[in-house]
Amino acid sequence: MASRVIPVAPFDLVVFGGTGDLAKRKIIPALFRRFVAGQFEEDARIIGAARAALSGAEYRTLAEEALKEFSAEYVENSKEVAAFLHMLDYVSIDATGDGGWEELKAKTSTDRVQAFYFSVAPSLFGALAERLHAYQIAGPEARVVVEKPFGRDQETAKALNATLAEYFDETQIYRIDHYLGKETVQNLMALRFGNMMFEPLWNNHYIDHIQITVAETVGVGGRGAYYDKSGAMRDMVQNHLMQLLCLIAMEPPAIYDADAVRDEKLKVIRALQPVAPHHIVRGQYEATDTAPSYRDDAENPRSFTESFIAMRCEIANWRWAGVPFYLRTGKKLRARSSEIAVVFKALGHSIFEGDTGPHRNILSIRLQPNEGIDMTVTVKEPGPGGMRLIDVPLDLTFAEAMAGTDSPEAYERLIMDVIRGNQTLFMRGDEVEAAWRWTDPLINGWEARNDVPKQYVPGSSGPEDALMLLHRDGRRWRDIKA
Ligand code: NAD
Repeated sequence: MASRVIPVAPFDLVVFGGTGDLAKRKIIPALFRRFVAGQFEEDARIIGAARAALSGAEYRTLAEEALKEFSAEYVENSKEVAAFLHMLDYVSIDATGDGGWEELKAKTSTDRVQAFYFSVAPSLFGALAERLHAYQIAGPEARVVVEKPFGRDQETAKALNATLAEYFDETQIYRIDHYLGKETVQNLMALRFGNMMFEPLWNNHYIDHIQITVAETVGVGGRGAYYDKSGAMRDMVQNHLMQLLCLIAMEPPAIYDADAVRDEKLKVIRALQPVAPHHIVRGQYEATDTAPSYRDDAENPRSFTESFIAMRCEIANWRWAGVPFYLRTGKKLRARSSEIAVVFKALGHSIFEGDTGPHRNILSIRLQPNEGIDMTVTVKEPGPGGMRLIDVPLDLTFAEAMAGTDSPEAYERLIMDVIRGNQTLFMRGDEVEAAWRWTDPLINGWEARNDVPKQYVPGSSGPEDALMLLHRDGRRWRDIKA
């Protein structure tokens, strides 16, 4: 099944930070893949803009190197490479200076769809927005794309929003959370709102609890000093995990459009209860014989920043009252695995004599690896010998079910959504601020108490206390497995 490609209008995409890591690893390969898929024509213009003094030809060489390294399509599509590179151009610009802006202006036209991707440090967003405005480069319909982190607390997020709002309308601002671009995350909405069978059960009458896990095997080595200023809560929970939680918990919007969806997500964030300190477990990975500890990686022997966090959250509304949402994310864990698990309540009574139950249906939505959805159901064990029950997965692995479908990766989908002008999968300003409003007091709380993160063994499931968090409630985490 080939995926359907709806071509987008001719566009100019300016990538500020076009020589950076994100541009090389994600943005350029994503654009190439969409070009190969036929989503845009050779009249598109992609303009790298960064500090390095490069010519257009040198930038095309840099982009080709990036494709070689990060794009699996590079080898098979050598014919398209030349055509793709032909669309690329470059301007040497300093966000805080005045050189290069007239040149950029000459390379882009307000008559076309214009998108400006701010793939630079957030401290430069204001300077870029101001100059795009001052040099009259961005037309009234232009879009700006901003990367995470969007602030480090509510105050800084508000300030960033206010700066962008001086030059752009909210309908022009695309705040990226690449988790929202994942195929399975969108499928979660299709599953909930496109089927009769889930929504009636999607509440505290039938659901026991929900687990959201985003586990990584890598440490913070290489960018430890930078990471140490944020930690797992700011880096992962405030954005990715909270976005997943919103999609799981939100009420059905009246229509699938940007503001209707984001209104419902915002209501969830606003209904999140404060989390008591004993419902939060923070951790740091220890050293092994061969690998450094978190504190070594962070180059901060007294660091109190967490490389792991687990927490028990509650949403105070009619649908979810009494249903815990357990969130967990960390570095150097057992496997690279992201999953949302909806654990249904156990049957109140079993009619099968000798059944050792309890049996629970579990709907598991896997984001990585092997994106897919499976549902644990209880069936009879095959063969003679009476009614013995076992729990087995009804597997809907996309790779199998959609055999041959070439589903776009998150960045591909999101960048094309920007060109199309569809904000549904992007965070609205008030959503980001509300998310910080919820996380700020939790962070301030552990900072004021000088809470020391628990140590955990690399390759484990995190600190013991995280296991206890569920154990105390008579529940257990799902295994972290690839
Ligand atoms: P990077 O340090 O690799 O690249 C930064 C880019 O910004 C370079 O092209 C550099 O020339 C340009 N730049 C720096 N100062 C400039 C100035 N004064 N004027 C013009 N250009 C300037 O950074 P990165 O990893 O590519 O990250 C870019 C942004 O994306 C950051 O906000 C980061 O937090 C975010 N982000 C990155 C990743 C990732 O995987 N790399 C993931 C999520 C978010």
